[in-house]
Amino acid sequence: MKISVVGTGYMGLVSGVCLASKGHDVICVDVVQDKVDLINNGVPPIYENGLKELLQSVVGKSFQASTSFKESILNTELSLIAVDTPFDGFSIDLKYIRQVAHQIGEVLKGKNGYHTIIVKSTVVPGTTEEVVLPILEEQSCKTAGIDFGVGMNPEFLREGEAIADFMDPDRIVLGGIDEKTIGKLDEVYAVFPNSDKIRTSPRTAEMIKYTANSLLATLISFSNEMGNLCAAIGNVDVVEVMRGVHLDKRFSPILESGERVFPSSLSFLAAGCGFGGSCLTKDVKALIKYGEDRGRDMAILKSVIETNRHQPFEMIRLIKKHFLALKGLKVSVLGLAFKPGTDDVRESASLAVIKALKDEDAIISAFDPIAREETEKALGLNAISYADSLEDCIRGADVILLMTSWPQFKDLPQVLEKDSLAPLLIDGRRLIDNTFVKKYEGIGLS
Ligand code: NAD
Repeated sequence: MKISVVGTGYMGLVSGVCLASKGHDVICVDVVQDKVDLINNGVPPIYENGLKELLQSVVGKSFQASTSFKESILNTELSLIAVDTPFDGFSIDLKYIRQVAHQIGEVLKGKNGYHTIIVKSTVVPGTTEEVVLPILEEQSCKTAGIDFGVGMNPEFLREGEAIADFMDPDRIVLGGIDEKTIGKLDEVYAVFPNSDKIRTSPRTAEMIKYTANSLLATLISFSNEMGNLCAAIGNVDVVEVMRGVHLDKRFSPILESGERVFPSSLSFLAAGCGFGGSCLTKDVKALIKYGEDRGRDMAILKSVIETNRHQPFEMIRLIKKHFLALKGLKVSVLGLAFKPGTDDVRESASLAVIKALKDEDAIISAFDPIAREETEKALGLNAISYADSLEDCIRGADVILLMTSWPQFKDLPQVLEKDSLAPLLIDGRRLIDNTFVKKYEGIGLS
């Protein structure tokens, strides 16, 4: 099928490249010319495991990027809207969604034949039918359900594992205003015959995405609250406590063979220095506002956000257990990305901690295998100093903060063995086997 993807960011680019590699003809559209040029030269503007190789295998063949909106819509039969839907500090900001709906509507006015428009961005329930559909009808002077189809197809890929997630989806949610739209979506996703598919209305599709993200955020904040309590009890380690919870056979089922299955969802039942990323925080906040507008208190989700807002500062509290003041303290920050496998620093716990350290005049050296450039964009050039390696970063440090669970940070104990100064290591992800670490603190450990 000829597909246009509007918005070529983390989600749109991965979706477009994967659909092209599965045999569709894809044009990714963006307003940023530099991004489009890079992509057409086989260079992804973002880091994602395996994306470069996959892009290079399809670009110029079944895949291209473009800034010419009109041609891209005219030359395709289905459009996926994949633009950002930020939180504006008050509620979900749909300005890019509205903009794109206007643009598509204008093109539809002069287009012969049926076109299908699918919202793939995360939007609050009702957006597709109450915001996007009326704009499309108004701009095109055509009728939804007759001249064009409208649907909603949320995306569940995880940054860091985005290609694997898209290529082997655990579920595909196809929301459509009518059978014809769902049929078109079925054609798009026929390339994933073994995935579970839910065929539903756009607003249920929208709500599935928010419920899924809100649950994940809730599990993390719950675990962090338990961790913070463990730290206050004394001689209780949250890692051991959560291991006891994980062994409940409703969380880790025992097969007939006697073997136990540990689902990856258990990684959300673990304490750390807080969740980040572009999605969880903004989506939970948007849903709180959406619920409150409908007279619901959303008490659980409000606490989820509050716990998470506080959580990075547990790292500062742990520093202050050992040092009276942060001024002049040499602090090494290991990890800037919100999680390993990505260069995305949006809402990263690491950036919250860096701001707090800067406020108290600590001397910061930071290292991340790939997220330096994105951090410089977020904090400004020269806001902090960066090291080129883990070893360089921790040299001469008073305190090391482990903020992102990059697998290579597991080697810290061996690196620290050679360090005669024995800095304090504060493990924000409980990644380290601390048996031989001289000075160690961890989230959820007193
Ligand atoms: P992003 O900021 O990385 O990318 C958005 C892109 O849209 C940018 O390249 C921007 O230039 C482009 N854009 C904005 N307005 C445009 C317009 N009028 N025409 C063409 N392009 C335009 O955002 P993202 O992380 O890819 O997220 C996009 C949506 O997908 C959000 O709703 C997000 O919640 C959802 N989502 C993201 C992920 C993820 O892992 N990032 C996962 C699932 C769902």
